[in-house]
Amino acid sequence: MSKLLILYTGGTIGMDYTPHGLAPVAGYLPRQLERLARQGVSWDVVEYPQLIDSSAITIAHWRQLVADIADAYQRYDGFVGIHGTDTMAYTASVLAFALHNLQKPVIVTGSQLPLVHPRSDGWNNVGVAIEAACQSDLHEVAIAFDNVLLRGCRARKVDATSFAGFDSPNAPPLARFGIAAHWQRSLWRQNRGEFRAVLPQEQDIRSGFLLPGGMAAAFGRWLAADTPHGALLFSYGNGNTPEEPALLEGIRAASAAGCVVVNLTQCPRGAVEVGAYAASQPLAQAGAVSAGDMTPEAAQAKLLLLLSQGLSAAEIRAAFGRDQAGEITLD
Ligand code: ASP
Repeated sequence: MSKLLILYTGGTIGMDYTPHGLAPVAGYLPRQLERLARQGVSWDVVEYPQLIDSSAITIAHWRQLVADIADAYQRYDGFVGIHGTDTMAYTASVLAFALHNLQKPVIVTGSQLPLVHPRSDGWNNVGVAIEAACQSDLHEVAIAFDNVLLRGCRARKVDATSFAGFDSPNAPPLARFGIAAHWQRSLWRQNRGEFRAVLPQEQDIRSGFLLPGGMAAAFGRWLAADTPHGALLFSYGNGNTPEEPALLEGIRAASAAGCVVVNLTQCPRGAVEVGAYAASQPLAQAGAVSAGDMTPEAAQAKLLLLLSQGLSAAEIRAAFGRDQAGEITLD
């Protein structure tokens, strides 16, 4: 018998049509979940008092979610987070970096169409999430969506119109579901050591998406003028940027002042590979650390959780390049 805790944060799945568009309806989703009852599994549901469209997610919501899972960790066999799709991959990444030595499944899901819609994908998504949360050897935070189970810190929302809303472009799925469930157990992480949760704290993390033209210089000036705790720079291809003095000077100044600057690729697939091109060297020399093939969601979450532990900038830069939750390919 598996005992699960279902944490309902909001999202399309539990929304209804209103004159202003889809909006969450308190109490509706927990009642509907009773229709999925089956032998061998039981659950408790926590419905948060403020159900949100996930575009409104904050660090405080994440802190609450991490604290609630940590408090309930010993009492349940697995956890299901019900969440809007817009920021689901961000939340899954935060959970992956906040829950250290996780030895139980934590599955996040939602839907593209609400349960009130006759063709809602929510039933199947929650059904798959519950089945995954009953796998006691799944020591992962994962997203269950449209018949795939994806590592949470590798997943991205890739489609806002089809049911196949998520993908993990740089990592294979942890399971696929047809009539049978195809669990890819050889890919699952084996965590040892004592479970421990790190609560995310407010941090000033900025991001800049490089565009041809004046953007590189503008980003550099922004960093130099107002040093944040961390910054994500979305560069081209394998981590390439123009050799723009204001950009490099901004990164140097911010890094010297303790800001952790991360170089991420704008490409949906592939990695920053420092040294592949001469154009990737200046950023590294100025002090930016490479995100490798991490997703933007994972990079933000990893930086946030490292900053939340009170480490020095040098310790964070070193830890950022190491694999923690299966988020990066190291060769
Ligand atoms: N805007 C919704 C949300 O993220 C989208 C969804 O759940 O599919 O809350």
